[in-house]
Amino acid sequence: MCYNRTIMAVTIVANWKMHPQTKAGARVLVSATKKAARTIRGLSVIIAAPSIFLAEAAKGPKSAKVAFAAQDIHFEKVGAFTGETSAWQAKDVGAAYTLIGHSERRAMGETDEDTRKKVAAALAAGLKPILCVGEKHRDSEGEYLAGFSAQLMTGLADVPASKLKAVSIAYEPVWAIGGEKPMSPNLMHETSLYIRKVLSERFGKAALSVPILYGGSITEQTAREMMTEGEVQGLLVGHVSVDPVRFATLLKSLA
Ligand code: PEP
Repeated sequence: MCYNRTIMAVTIVANWKMHPQTKAGARVLVSATKKAARTIRGLSVIIAAPSIFLAEAAKGPKSAKVAFAAQDIHFEKVGAFTGETSAWQAKDVGAAYTLIGHSERRAMGETDEDTRKKVAAALAAGLKPILCVGEKHRDSEGEYLAGFSAQLMTGLADVPASKLKAVSIAYEPVWAIGGEKPMSPNLMHETSLYIRKVLSERFGKAALSVPILYGGSITEQTAREMMTEGEVQGLLVGHVSVDPVRFATLLKSLA
């Protein structure tokens, strides 16, 4: 099977996790991010803000380069789910995307089956899901491949090929998250081809429209190399995205 993939704009997801501490800090970070993204062609930034700050973050002056995401959603529309935020609520306050299945959510008990329902709910609400997958460890026999293929297949089980263009995949090997050294771009290149193959087996040609992002310890020193050699269409950046100076340098390195 051989299809030509269309060239996509580069997507950088800024996963703020549980930062910053205040609403005022969130405002400052949004405007620094918009300023940094403004002059860089062919690139868009998605800020995944904590749900408590999402409305505030999304309500400032509009920028064609910056969109907003929830970090997680519940799969029900409304109801007795204390502490949760639905896809419909996130959309209503300005989110266009949502992360689903981040490893930090999976570590708190989220299952593949939960991600399946969340992806379907996101699409039903008009949010674009960014499904996060990735193994905890790599073994030399390649068994880890079956693990994250299952994450992919279950997470996307209810997605028809016609809706696949709204979906992105963020590959985040758990063992590479939270430091300053990402996985090697060569390994990512191989992994990206494998993910594309798994998607193609299930969705055929529609799989070519799915952006594959890499996440895990990307810094201003490593972003460019990962983009040029990793066969990825974007990056998911955690701790560096809440440091305005480092994040601006990272975006600039991709110009
Ligand atoms: C993440 O947790 O999604 C992530 C990529 O974090 P970091 O960049 O800090 O490794």
